[in-house]
Amino acid sequence: MTNKHTHSFQAEVAQLLHLVTHSLYSNKEIFLRELISNASDACDKLRFEALNNPSLYEDQPQLEVRVSFDKKARTLTIADTGIGMSEQEAIDNLGTIAKSGTKDFMSKLSGDQKADSQLIGQFGVGFYSGFIVADRITVESRRAGLPESAGVRWVSGGSGDFEVEAIDRKERGTSITLHLREDAEEFLNTWKLKALISKYSDHISLPILMEKEEWKEGENDQPGDMAKTGEWETVNQASALWTRPKKDITPEQYIEFYKNISHDSEAPLTWSHNRVEGNTEYTQLLYIPSHAPMDLWNRDKKAGIKLYVKRVFIMDDAEALMPTYLRFVKGVIDSADLPLNVSRELLQESRDVRLIRDGNTRRVLSMLEDLAKHDRHEAMATEGDVVDVVSEDDKAKEGKYTQFYSEFGAVLKEGLGEDFGNGERIAKLLRFASSTSDGVTVSFADYKARMKEGQEAIYYITADTPAAAKNSPQLEVFKKKGIEVLLMTDRVDEWALNYLHEFDGTPLQSVAKGAVDLGKLQDEAEKKAAEEAAETFKPTLAKLKEALKNEVEDVRVTTRLVDSPACIVVQDGGMSAQLARMLKQAGQ
Ligand code: ADP
Ligand code: MG
Repeated sequence: MTNKHTHSFQAEVAQLLHLVTHSLYSNKEIFLRELISNASDACDKLRFEALNNPSLYEDQPQLEVRVSFDKKARTLTIADTGIGMSEQEAIDNLGTIAKSGTKDFMSKLSGDQKADSQLIGQFGVGFYSGFIVADRITVESRRAGLPESAGVRWVSGGSGDFEVEAIDRKERGTSITLHLREDAEEFLNTWKLKALISKYSDHISLPILMEKEEWKEGENDQPGDMAKTGEWETVNQASALWTRPKKDITPEQYIEFYKNISHDSEAPLTWSHNRVEGNTEYTQLLYIPSHAPMDLWNRDKKAGIKLYVKRVFIMDDAEALMPTYLRFVKGVIDSADLPLNVSRELLQESRDVRLIRDGNTRRVLSMLEDLAKHDRHEAMATEGDVVDVVSEDDKAKEGKYTQFYSEFGAVLKEGLGEDFGNGERIAKLLRFASSTSDGVTVSFADYKARMKEGQEAIYYITADTPAAAKNSPQLEVFKKKGIEVLLMTDRVDEWALNYLHEFDGTPLQSVAKGAVDLGKLQDEAEKKAAEEAAETFKPTLAKLKEALKNEVEDVRVTTRLVDSPACIVVQDGGMSAQLARMLKQAGQ
């Protein structure tokens, strides 16, 4: 009697498999990174569960990954001593995609290979990438703590279905054997594998071992053939990257580590690596991505920070370690003070966590300030009379803030409503289009620096699009007088500006609210003319008010228009038309 069972892949998996094997073909080698990273995750999980149950180590205390191959059989095997899988876990984990957002992902696929493979990278299809190089994958596993008879063998050709059977397995953990396609034979080579491991997996904190080889003497083999010695050696650095001194880490290693933790195929814009001492001690390695993930707008989206305690992995997506408006930041925090058994609930209340979060926030803001400063280098150098020497390092930062801002600027604005303590720093980092600066974005500081003599407020207008803002009749008088107006066209602007009333002592004033008081910018003659007009048109106004009494609150003569006969404004302190529209859209 056989205990073999055939299962179908969940429809999404089948679809994904097809995609992975077709669109990632030009970047085959990433399968090794994915499988080693799974092995490493499995070891992290074991270490974590064993904190409360040391017997899970059984008689194998060593956590490691072994990579080996059989040239004749054309197989490559990645074996780990991690947590392993029960039969049910193998069925669930390797047959379905549990992650939410997969459907969303599918719908975003464009058919363009390059774009799609980046998307796949972001979603980290991990295990299935094995099918890029293999036409059959055999997984054998036993979960730590289960008896030898509770082993499982999972086999699939990567299309449609997979087979599962119970087996005896002495070793705890998982071994994954790839039956390589003919055109993937290049991976049956120690040099090649070692090179890939050092490229992708050097920072993995557990040892990756390969069997030593030596030159084969005589016999009938071709020159260059190697023989296995039966002796294993560690082929990676096997120390967690963030624990190494900065000076020993190359930019390439930082970038590779980023790609690994973020599933992003592009390099980050910048990073910052620090050991923080003081009220609480921790190591911080934070990255700012170069482009937004597609679920950026989901405020419930998991944060990108991994938490370690004394190098033991505790959890992914530790949202308590970063404010929501900085949810795009990726990285690792390794705390020396938190207890190993810390839970998400506990994190919310911990004083250490609060300190770490504040430290992270400050760090990210200063990373952004640094990018912003260097992005403006050229402009500053030509405006001022001193031209400073620009270092290579600084040069590399040019343009980065602009890129950051176009990807994440709107999220950053949420900070005005979320993080009052840093409101001023956030405001300094904001950029807007303006009525007078063609296409170039403007900071509040830029705006202030060129305010007109006698101008007492920073003027802005909110609208759905830059074109709508620019053509608004409300701007007419400002145009005529040559006064710059900031054009706020992000959905969050209106909301965010509720929390920002002034910048550096100068009040912010919407040009669409109340009676615009141009203060000293309005000359006496104009004021007088307006007052006279108000007098002359009194009867007309009364009629209009009567006619529109169900529609409007008031009808006034205004000085804000130059060409248009009339416009609608909002009462001072009232909800703006833009915000009202947004709330209506949101169903409120
Ligand atoms: P991810 O690693 O992002 O969760 P993968 O497709 O790489 O996605 O892996 C799917 C799941 O399969 C993992 O979450 C894990 O539960 C399981 N898995 C894969 N490889 C191993 C392994 N070597 N040991 C234990 N479980 C594994
Ligand atoms: Mg994975």
